[in-house]
Amino acid sequence: MNSAPVVLVTGASRGIGAATAELFAQNGYNVCINYIKDTLSANNVAKKVQSYGVNALVLQANVANEDEVIAMFNTIDNTFGQIDVLINNAGILKPQMPLLNMNAQRINEILTTNVTSAFLCAREAIKRMSSGGSIVNVSSGAAKTGSPNEYIDYAASKGAIDTLTIGLAKEVAALNIRVNGVRPGLIYTDMHRDGGEENRVNRLKNKLPLGRGGTPEEVAAAIYFLASEQASFTTGGFIDVAGGL
Ligand code: NAD
Repeated sequence: MNSAPVVLVTGASRGIGAATAELFAQNGYNVCINYIKDTLSANNVAKKVQSYGVNALVLQANVANEDEVIAMFNTIDNTFGQIDVLINNAGILKPQMPLLNMNAQRINEILTTNVTSAFLCAREAIKRMSSGGSIVNVSSGAAKTGSPNEYIDYAASKGAIDTLTIGLAKEVAALNIRVNGVRPGLIYTDMHRDGGEENRVNRLKNKLPLGRGGTPEEVAAAIYFLASEQASFTTGGFIDVAGGL
């Protein structure tokens, strides 16, 4: 049995999740890299993780699917026998449009992928954090702006993540489990291409007080801080990583 702490990062094949996986590896964690479809990218993240002398476990699972989440945690049990930190990072958005054009299929896919997933992964992690632990939920600045005419479904899903963070932090504090959130905004990742506007960050960056977009590494630093002992008296808290948004 390896005694290094273990982190699970959902949606870690690229973007913020990949940068977070790498940062935990740099800090001596064994890293579970969840992804949904891009095996090559997930394996590349695993190679980077292993280059820091820690173990990587690549886990294909749709975190919106309860059976797949349970199977993923069972594999972590069988491999490491523990989980110390969960980063609920997996998330999607869909092409920009006003509510008038949205259908139930789209809205439900956003909500199950961005919200149900975080509930399920948190539940399974808490069951296993018998000597305490830490959960960081990746929300969005959209939870505060509402993203009108772009994706209010996505923004509302992140509002739910914030409320989950507040409630769950209180629910599990007595178990010595901390639950916090980060709210990124305008970060250079491929997610914006999925929203139909690859250059969204560059279009909007000058509206931010800091006048630039952010990097996945800048978000990973805030996630790591909240998960670490450096934030040992912080629970139910949030860090905005959004250039002053
Ligand atoms: P990304 O699209 O680059 O990465 C998202 C990751 O989640 C990918 O690895 C993807 O495969 C994975 N994923 C998607 N659905 C999944 C599922 N059902 N099961 C498992 N994995 C799944 O996006 P990103 O920009 O790195 O975003 C990471 C998180 O940060 C998301 O929660 C996103 O909402 C949030 N965020 C991003 C920004 C930004 O500007 N990029 C801003 C605010 C919040």
